[in-house]
Order: sequence, then C-alpha cells, then structure tokens
Amino acid sequence: MRSIAIDGPSGAGKTTVAKALAERMGYHYVDTGAIYRTVGLYVSRRGSCDDVQLVEKCLPEIEIGLEHGEDGLQHMFLNGEDVTEAIRKNEVSAFASTVSAIPAVREYLLDMQRELARQHNVIMDGRDIGTVVLPNANVKIYLTASVEERAKRRWKELQEKGDNTPFETVKEQIIQRDHADMNREIAPLRQAEDAVVVDTSDLNLEESIEAAYQVVKEKMGQE
Ligand code: C5P
Repeated sequence: MRSIAIDGPSGAGKTTVAKALAERMGYHYVDTGAIYRTVGLYVSRRGSCDDVQLVEKCLPEIEIGLEHGEDGLQHMFLNGEDVTEAIRKNEVSAFASTVSAIPAVREYLLDMQRELARQHNVIMDGRDIGTVVLPNANVKIYLTASVEERAKRRWKELQEKGDNTPFETVKEQIIQRDHADMNREIAPLRQAEDAVVVDTSDLNLEESIEAAYQVVKEKMGQE
C-alpha cells in the first residue's frame, strides 16, 4: 500500500488539497483531525475535556466509525451516531485540541490510523502523520501559509457562515492553536525531516492543489 502524509497548521488548506489529490489519484482520504474531534465531542458530553482522568476513562467507551459516503465526505460515527456535522462546530475545535495533547488519546488512535493505511492507499492529513503515524509514508508534504493569510481565509469562511467574529480575534485564535499544537509534549506539529514544504500563502486553491500534486508526482516518479 502507498501513503501520502500531509501535515501543517490550521488553515493552510490541508483538507482541500488532500481531498482533491485523493480524488485525482483514487486514494482513500483520511482526515485525522475529524477523529480527534469525535473523541473531543464524546468527552464534552460527559464532562470537561480538561479532566484527564475523565478522558482516559471515556476512551474504552468510544467506538469510532469512519465511512466514505457517495458525497465524497468522510462520515464519522460515534457509537453508531453520525456526528459528521456535529464535530465541525467551532467549540469542538478546542475540545479536539485539548484531548489531542493527552498521551493516552494519541496512543489509542495510533493503531486505528495505521490500520487504515495498511488496508488502503491513503492520503492522510493531520499534525503528526509524517513524523509519528506514518514515518515511512511514500510522500510527505508540510503544507503551510503565513498566519495573516490563514487568518484571512478562516475569517472569510466564518463570514460566509454568518459568523461575524472580528478578524483580530480569528487571528489570535489561530496563533493560540498553532502554539498549542506546536508546543505540546507529545507528537507536536513539526515538519518531518524528509517532508517537502509547500507554502500556500500566495497560491489560490487550484494552485495549491497543483503544487502538492507536482511534489507527489516527482516523489513517486523517483521510487
Ligand atoms: O485538523 P483539525 O483542525 O480538524 O484538527 C483539530 C485538532 O486536532 C487540531 O488542532 C490538533 O490539536 C488535533 N490533531 C492532532 N493530530 C492530528 C490531527 C489533529 O493533534 N493528526
């Protein structure tokens, strides 16, 4: 099986790029952030995600299902309930970020992610795919963009959804999430040594997809 790892901070365009490449190449797209979000959602329904003991107690109670629908969406199931939309709520981003820093959670999800890569050719996006989950991935891309640009994209997205959070607040949230993801003790977000950096600051979506595709083509051609 072949695998492509795409890591990077929030708002760099990972999901859009990974999804487009998966379609183009006939690979399975795996959004690992959605898995952390599902765990965060479950724990938040039971209490506080800051309560490490509670989080650890919850893990054996959680059965996560992942299915690819005909709509191309990765549907997430939490003990049989379709939570695909529920995990996209803004507050769930913070729950996911909190539980993702707990070692037991990362360990619990590691096998699941590796198993998916054993069964399918995958394009997996996340924060630690090239460094921890799939260190032997055939291609590793570190997709990034300036804070200013990522904040602009996120702000625009929120505006379109009718959310009027001020630009400066959105930017501050991005800076905080970057800081938490890059500085946690376990599996922090960082560029794998053998990853190719794709900076999308000055690229639109089509150009970002194309730039990532060129990296994949070049790397796979060398094998
Ligand atoms: O990618 P997304 O924004 O959906 O991820 C939500 C949160 O899950 C991230 O902020 C990060 O803390 C965590 N995450 C992670 N490792 C991954 C994917 C996501 O720690 N591989």
